Amino acid sequence: MIALAESDRPVAQVLKNFGACPRCVLRFCRVGQQALYRQPHKELLAELCKFLESNKDEDNPSCETETPPSKRIKLGRMEEAEEQTPNGSHLLEVGAGTAAEGLETAVCCVCLGILQQLCEVDFVKAVCHKINSSEYEFSSFVLSVSFPPQLSVREHAAWLLVQEEIEKQGLLVGKDDLVQLKEAYKWIIHPLFLEELGVPADGKATFYPSFKCFQFLSLSHYARAHVPCSVCVFLYLLPCRHFHSPPSLPKSPCSAVDIQCTNGAIFVAGRYNKYSRTLPQTPWIIDGERKMDSSVEELISEHLMTVFKADSFNFSSSGREDVDVRTLGNGRPFAVELLNPRKVHVTAADMKALQQTINNSSDKVQVRDLQLVTREAIGHMKEGEEGKTKTYSALIWTEKVIRNEDLSPLDNMKELKIDQKTPLRVLHRRPLAVRARIIHTMRSEYIDEHHFRLHLKSQAGTYIKEFVHGDFGRTRPNLGSLLGTTADIMELDVESVDVDWPPALDN
Ligand SMILES: [Zn+2]
Repeated sequence: MIALAESDRPVAQVLKNFGACPRCVLRFCRVGQQALYRQPHKELLAELCKFLESNKDEDNPSCETETPPSKRIKLGRMEEAEEQTPNGSHLLEVGAGTAAEGLETAVCCVCLGILQQLCEVDFVKAVCHKINSSEYEFSSFVLSVSFPPQLSVREHAAWLLVQEEIEKQGLLVGKDDLVQLKEAYKWIIHPLFLEELGVPADGKATFYPSFKCFQFLSLSHYARAHVPCSVCVFLYLLPCRHFHSPPSLPKSPCSAVDIQCTNGAIFVAGRYNKYSRTLPQTPWIIDGERKMDSSVEELISEHLMTVFKADSFNFSSSGREDVDVRTLGNGRPFAVELLNPRKVHVTAADMKALQQTINNSSDKVQVRDLQLVTREAIGHMKEGEEGKTKTYSALIWTEKVIRNEDLSPLDNMKELKIDQKTPLRVLHRRPLAVRARIIHTMRSEYIDEHHFRLHLKSQAGTYIKEFVHGDFGRTRPNLGSLLGTTADIMELDVESVDVDWPPALDN
């Protein structure tokens, strides 16, 4: 059923004369039933021709006696409208059969074949074959189609023609009331994709197959058919009465190019321990030259990249340690964003196996609590980082000979406030400022006359090395000033990062 009302007849006729396909006719007649658009193009065309032909029959006085009274009333309105048409919309196509055959191969002057060839099952099969052979895992999709810019000009030209007819009927219909090409295209194409891919279209899906509709033009044709944006703008400003020349009939339809797929990023989080004093957290590259063989980020992420078959990754963590600092205890929370992963369906067992793979491949880095998380959850890792505490263990050297009892004042200090001027070693990447920090507690372990171990709990963001050696007086007070000697740090370990995310897993 073509589902056009008698009142739609002038608009349908004008559009068909203009060279529009039956689906574009439905759109411009504001037909909103999606199922109608899904009928085969051939059938729609035949029905449209039949519908318009029936007018010709009724127009013929010899048929008048057979016309039911209700139809005749409508016909009367129709005729009135057509008489006022200035650009000769009486120019009907000849013979329903001929018209159908003629239009079957003709490219729609409005949609450039997007609602014709690009809605055919064969086309959808070809696109879906490409999607299915791309290794992507998905359970729903959002189809993203981009249309060529010259379509807006064609749409507008058709609208100007139709607008005259609509105005004659005294209807208040704006261009926005038409069924938009994108909308109609989705109505037709989504069920076909569902059939081929076996999963539904879903606005919330994270899998985006996409393609561009592009009209290949010969050079000679190009000059006429390609309309730059400024002309677009000009057309919108032009009073519609002055616009009567529709764009030329297209010789070639649009084809789909650049079929691509994108899966939304997935996020993996966990905690890592670093047992090496020669391993940076991120690749250490100075002036394009690599300084260390590997990094924490690479030792973890390369395995994630392999399993999830992603294009790239972004590594982030709750703070970071220096290359010569180990991270012990429960480890440091981290998260990896994997971009455009092919694999997205993983079980808890898969994650456990992946964790094992990472841990087996290096003794420098070990991970725990490896799990999939949401983008939002990563915020927990970063939020309130400054307010968190970190626990360190440092091996200290003193210039002056020390006895065990010299260290006891340290053990009794609680909530020691210190001022840290931006350390010299980070001055190149952090602004110069004085930051107030708190050393919550300290506990010393005497080793010998020049060495002891200091366990300390501090506010996150405290520069521990500078607190020990003083950074040429830039951190005050410092361990040296507290002990009345020159002190230096031999080794530093992070004992714990008190961020309770990601949740611990029982493995
Ligand atoms: Zn069309």
